[in-house]
Amino acid sequence: MAARWTACLAALLALLPPLAHAQSKSELLDRLVRAYPDALSAHDDTTITWRDGTVMPVDDGVSGKSFDQMLRNASILDQMRQPYPSGPSAPPTQNVDPGRFRNEAFFKKMYGDCNTAEVRRNLVTITWLPRSWGKPVQVTRVNGVAERLKQVSAEIEALDPALRAAAFPIAGVLSCRAVADTGRMSMHGYAAAIDLNLKVSDYWLWARKGEGKGESKGKTIPYKNRMPREIVDIFERHGFIWGGKWYHYDTMHFEYRPELLEQ
Ligand SMILES: [Zn+2]
Repeated sequence: MAARWTACLAALLALLPPLAHAQSKSELLDRLVRAYPDALSAHDDTTITWRDGTVMPVDDGVSGKSFDQMLRNASILDQMRQPYPSGPSAPPTQNVDPGRFRNEAFFKKMYGDCNTAEVRRNLVTITWLPRSWGKPVQVTRVNGVAERLKQVSAEIEALDPALRAAAFPIAGVLSCRAVADTGRMSMHGYAAAIDLNLKVSDYWLWARKGEGKGESKGKTIPYKNRMPREIVDIFERHGFIWGGKWYHYDTMHFEYRPELLEQ
């Protein structure tokens, strides 16, 4: 009897979405401070402290936010609410978008505002895939992003040519624009994200093309991906998350979010 109950419970648990290792608020904030050592110095239960002395609240006191509210108005803690699965993983389940909740004040403070000269001041030029493509790209030097991308580029160069082809020509880095469905600044606005070869990319909104407004409501988005895992692994090792691990997927997109990768 007990064995039957155990089997029954196991079957029930298998139906639930995978429960990531639940982390306490303090563990999440420890990770955040560790992930940005140049920018952050400390945290307590309610705030983070930047190296220049700026103090920011980690919570906005709004509980029970919907998915859409989190996309539009994420607190610093909301940013880390959905754990990012590094390494091989199954296609994301509905509304699992780890990394798409971003607190705009946090990232503006970190990288600057692209509507002013702040972001431009920190741009440096690197050569993307010097042997295979060799074009200059401007990326931020904040948090060592430029240096990390140079290492990513060198590791991609060592891959088989058939895999490497997905990494160039790049579709873009700096773009001062909001994300289509959130109205919030994209990580491209900070020059801390890179889009690879458009020709092998899949994007959830393209999968919705041709559907009438309303028609897509509640309908599952079919998952698609052609980005090689080898490229994803390289980016993740250097602190970049991949848009292919989002239910609202964007498979050419990588952004620097070490707080979601650091163990
Ligand atoms: Zn992108």
